[in-house]
Amino acid sequence: MSARVIIVVLGKQGAGKGTQCKRLAAHLAIPHVSTGDMLRAAVRDATPTGLEVSSILAAGQLVSDDLVNRLVRERFTADDARGGALLDGFPRTLAQAEALDEILGDDGVKICINLDVTNSLVTERLSSRRVCQECGNIYRDSDIEAISGTCSNCGGDVIQRDDDLPAAILQRLEVYERDTAPLLSFYEGRGLVVRVDGDQEPDAVTAQILALLAQRGVG
Ligand code: AMP
Repeated sequence: MSARVIIVVLGKQGAGKGTQCKRLAAHLAIPHVSTGDMLRAAVRDATPTGLEVSSILAAGQLVSDDLVNRLVRERFTADDARGGALLDGFPRTLAQAEALDEILGDDGVKICINLDVTNSLVTERLSSRRVCQECGNIYRDSDIEAISGTCSNCGGDVIQRDDDLPAAILQRLEVYERDTAPLLSFYEGRGLVVRVDGDQEPDAVTAQILALLAQRGVG
């Protein structure tokens, strides 16, 4: 258990967390754990959890700490998380960060990557973002997959998320500043934060992250 690599990826919605986590997960051979993806899957499958949270997600609000803490606790019981995980979208509140410490025990968070981006860039990125409902692949509204509505990776439906509509984007940025931004000082106090300029092209962001992880003996 001592070699477990738990990496928390912080950043506003649209900072590129999902894209970077997918790449890093492949590189580090640890799972990409996205609470947003888990909740969206529950909504899509109309599970009891999905029915409970669907309007909250659509409005860009946060679901309860108890619910996401439970999802993450369960996720960490799976075999593939033994070597670690990349956490995307969790924790999002101080209460969740404390719950994560409790879930992980002695072998806690190793690194917190902060993907720094300006509000204007994320607003532009989110409003043009289209997503495959099946595999989570991300497209731009000008991509052929978005225009045809079909994912070239898995054939799933490519859609615009409700929470990528303008009112919800604004709401999510406010929620980020209020509830999630304080986590930076929480992890900074432990010397765990590496800052990455998320305004760059995705390849440059990945290269910068890998270099910073290597400096800390990861990868
Ligand atoms: P994301 O894909 O990470 O942007 O998450 C999409 C939505 O799922 C968020 O706007 C919230 O409604 C919900 N969500 C995801 N992760 C969490 C979390 N850790 N705590 C509360 N709500 C969350």
